[in-house]
Amino acid sequence: MTRAVIAFGANLGDREATIASATRALAETPGVQLVAVSPVYETAAIKHSGVDPVAPGYLNGVVIVETALAPLDLLDVLQAVEAENGRVRTEHWGDRTLDLDLIDFGGVVSADERLELPHPRAWQRAFVLQPWLDVDPDAVLPGRGTIAELRRVAHDEVVRR
Ligand code: ADP
Ligand code: MG
Repeated sequence: MTRAVIAFGANLGDREATIASATRALAETPGVQLVAVSPVYETAAIKHSGVDPVAPGYLNGVVIVETALAPLDLLDVLQAVEAENGRVRTEHWGDRTLDLDLIDFGGVVSADERLELPHPRAWQRAFVLQPWLDVDPDAVLPGRGTIAELRRVAHDEVVRR
């Protein structure tokens, strides 16, 4: 079994309902057991140009699981759950009903384009680091350091729900 950290984000539709449905779907996936679900944070949409004050805000958080699945099989599960929850893939970083990113998979480091591990931008995103810190204060991001220290220097704003 491997411990994996999954980040969720939703900025369209009934965000709470989508997150609840996604969490339930993960819990019901064979080979996946929920270990922890973080508090949820309200955050601003971030686009390539920076914070987008016009785009609807996000609800973000993380789920920690123990899994018997291989990393790419877990990614397939995440993408299936996104699809079930109405995700339409249009622009990269565009608004979405649900985004599920694999942040860490048991410390594995991978440069595979389909699955980069750890997630390449998690280390600088308070909307990932803060909820992760809430449920696993001693966590480390491979190659980047402790999430406590990374959280301290991340500057995007997160507001607990
Ligand atoms: P983003 O999350 O960056 O806004 P998408 O959710 O549309 O973008 O994902 C784009 C692609 O990123 C996916 O097709 C997926 O294969 C790839 N990808 C690479 N590494 C990861 C990862 N660690 N977690 C989730 N997706 C990843
Ligand atoms: Mg994604």
